[in-house]
Amino acid sequence: MSGAGSAKRVKQVVVIGGGTAGWMTAAGLASMLGSTGLKITLIESDAIGIVGVGEATLPHIKLFNDTIGVDEAEFMAATSATFKLGIEFVDWARKGDSYIHPFGEFGLANQGVPFHQYWSKMRNDPDVGPLDEYSLPVVACRKGKFQRPSDDPRSVLSTYRYAYQFDALQYAPFMRKHGEARGVTRIEGKVTGVHQDSESGDITSVTLEDGQQIAGDLFVDCTGFFGLLIEKALETGYESWSDFLPCDRAVAVPCESAGPLLPYTRATADKAGWRWRIPLQHRTGNGHVYSSGFTSDDAAQQALVDNLDGKLLADPRILRFATGKRRKLWNRNCIAIGLSGGFLEPLESTSIYLIQEGITKLLELFPDTSDFTVEAEEYNRKMDLEFERIRDFLILHYHATERDDSDFWNYMRTMKVPASLTEKMELFRASGRIASYDHGLFLVPSWIAVLLGQRIEPTGYDWRVDQLDADEIRRHLAGLRTHMDQAASGMDDHGEFLSTNGLAMSAA
Ligand SMILES: Cc1cc2nc3c(=O)[nH]c(=O)nc-3n(C[C@H](O)[C@H](O)[C@H](O)COP(=O)(O)OP(=O)(O)OC[C@H]3O[C@@H](n4cnc5c(N)ncnc54)[C@H](O)[C@@H]3O)c2cc1C
Repeated sequence: MSGAGSAKRVKQVVVIGGGTAGWMTAAGLASMLGSTGLKITLIESDAIGIVGVGEATLPHIKLFNDTIGVDEAEFMAATSATFKLGIEFVDWARKGDSYIHPFGEFGLANQGVPFHQYWSKMRNDPDVGPLDEYSLPVVACRKGKFQRPSDDPRSVLSTYRYAYQFDALQYAPFMRKHGEARGVTRIEGKVTGVHQDSESGDITSVTLEDGQQIAGDLFVDCTGFFGLLIEKALETGYESWSDFLPCDRAVAVPCESAGPLLPYTRATADKAGWRWRIPLQHRTGNGHVYSSGFTSDDAAQQALVDNLDGKLLADPRILRFATGKRRKLWNRNCIAIGLSGGFLEPLESTSIYLIQEGITKLLELFPDTSDFTVEAEEYNRKMDLEFERIRDFLILHYHATERDDSDFWNYMRTMKVPASLTEKMELFRASGRIASYDHGLFLVPSWIAVLLGQRIEPTGYDWRVDQLDADEIRRHLAGLRTHMDQAASGMDDHGEFLSTNGLAMSAA
């Protein structure tokens, strides 16, 4: 980083890489800072291509799209997108189990006490049923229904949010159009050289295969697993979390759609990892994330192909990765966004969220001069927290299991986990309470869904619940459950909603 005395204005940002991360970054910066005169250049190599997976998202992406002015109907039609109300986890704690992590609340809080505490007290009552039945997005998922949420906080239809499932190969080109329309300059070519200032170590320019030299003040490394600037040039270092999350490969393949278009992603646990199923308008995306220490590529591929629900549309593709993150996501004048910064496996669809967070935090801390040591430190502190908290949430799925049918599950069940996660599990076990974070992606309902889904049962409940007598709680629960069921039944069929609201791909 340049010293304060030599600080110069940041006028030129160079983004290297044109995948989801590169085009989201370029489009985001151009939309939010374009009118300041900041020049944004994106360099990408068609010959190298993009990773081409990453199709399931979290609700936060809607905020990103809205902020930068993306039209939802145009976006959904162009990327063959479907709506997503949650993720179904099948066979995780025990074979035969299924639960949904919904994008929304469970029931309604009463007198400041979370709803699940009332349910927890009554859960052995035969009329009460599973907690799932008090979550509108879960009930809607099970019925294959969708409706946009209501803005009226008094309506049960305001208790959920939604995300999208989209075609990864169509998303970056869509964002490219958005970015170019807002002034991003695109250069096609392969970066072959990275030049640094001999004193500060800052990156000054990159050279392309055809000899062009592109200079910049800030560089955003979006080169995916290559980590061309952040690692190959700056040697930032990588913090591996493979002891906790040993899955290090995935095999991916699309297949023909079959059955109704479901408004959720499915993650089915397998012998040495898990399989994803992402329903899009024109096909289903599938993959198998596995640990090469516990199974072979051939066996993983076979397990995937044996469980497809439609005809294969391409040859299966194997991807290798190391779970973890760069020691610094902002190092010198380079910010790593996307897979170049790190990767936590896609179990909770968090990678595109981390891209979005990287862009949002960069915008919040965007420096006006090259004297940005403090901004970089703050950026790294916040992004580290994001990564660590997602890491703990992912480990919970694997660790809180009763499965003992393979070496992989025996390892996951018995391994030592981060203290931060142990504390959370113990608090929940004791009293059903969730230690909420000031900062971090997953909020209380998400933890409740996964803790209970993974069969961590609270032995007690919040004593404040006893202020209502049992009959009153029983009546309240029965009314709410019926209300959820009726509200979900009144929604549209998900596929029909897409076609009757101008969101189908034929509208693009
Ligand atoms: C198996 C798997 C499943 C996933 N599933 C999900 C999911 O469901 N949800 C989710 O949120 N995320 C998911 N992800 C993550 C998601 O795919 C990525 O976060 C997202 O696609 C962003 O990738 P990227 O842009 O960082 O990298 P890439 O798509 O690899 O793009 C890298 C870019 O850099 C360019 N490049 C590289 N080297 C050079 C060079 N020398 N010169 C010029 N250009 C160069 C390439 O051409 C390309 O344009 C998944 C990832 C994997 C591996």
